Amino acid sequence: FSSFILFSIFVGASLGSFPEIISQFQQTAGATERLREILDMPTERGSGASDLTISGQITLQDISFTYPSRPDAPVLKNISTVLPAGQRTAIVGPSGAGKSTLFSLILGFNDPTSGNLLLDQTNSKEISLSSLRSQIAIVPQEVMLFGGSILENIAYGKPGATREEIENAAIQANAHSFITELPEAYETIVGPRGTKLSGGQRQRIAIARAILADPKILLLDEATSALDSESERLVNEALERLMQNRTSLVIAHRLSTVRHADQILVISKGELVEQGTHDSLYAANGTYKFLAETQLS
Ligand code: ADP
Ligand code: MG
Repeated sequence: FSSFILFSIFVGASLGSFPEIISQFQQTAGATERLREILDMPTERGSGASDLTISGQITLQDISFTYPSRPDAPVLKNISTVLPAGQRTAIVGPSGAGKSTLFSLILGFNDPTSGNLLLDQTNSKEISLSSLRSQIAIVPQEVMLFGGSILENIAYGKPGATREEIENAAIQANAHSFITELPEAYETIVGPRGTKLSGGQRQRIAIARAILADPKILLLDEATSALDSESERLVNEALERLMQNRTSLVIAHRLSTVRHADQILVISKGELVEQGTHDSLYAANGTYKFLAETQLS
């Protein structure tokens, strides 16, 4: 739940304004602690951080992470690996393993408790959050749009984008056709009080937003909810275009996604327990094979 709110804030989503987010939180029992953590989240780093243009390699050096509110329960433990620039890495692991927490470290919402996170050769703590977040895009599991027009929802990916750039992104994302079939096309108001779009249509709008942002690094939390097969085909095709030539890290719930990954990380109880390709891990007959057979669809 907290990760969902985190992502919603990052993508400027749905809940629209901060007061609305807070009121949603207050309806949730036991959320006060997490609300405080989010309100305390830094919006920018101190004067030591500077802007940096990255090429997209991510290096995890012996990273451990513990949430301050649960000091006795480390969530990530001594993770070391390299995500090469331009390659596709899939993460698999049971719920609660720490996958979304890893995303929050890459986005700079949290810093490792120990160990280093490098982007290219630079410690991510030394990179300004604005610079980080302009070069890393996230497509969350459940896409929520904010209450403006479709045009505004896509344009959020690149402030000042031209109409042509926005429509091009929508074409790439397989969204342009359904948008132009709506009576008010790009001016259609979406979100809580507007037109209801299907899950697959919302995903394609989020993909258009990310394509427009043109990030070096893409974080994707694959949707678990099933789409109808036509919608799934359109979403997958759009995701393929989005992932092309970027470092992408995908929390995978589908076998087809892990099969296409350059490498797979298997995370269990906060530890990186296996790493390799689908074929090598399957042959190893360990955790990956078990997960692939029981949890990936
Ligand atoms: P996954 O994405 O693999 O399901 P998460 O990274 O969301 O796992 O969560 C890993 C562990 O961290 C879980 O035990 C979860 O309850 C805990 N956790 C997640 N977010 C917070 C938070 N903001 N504060 C404290 N604990 C959290
Ligand atoms: Mg998660």
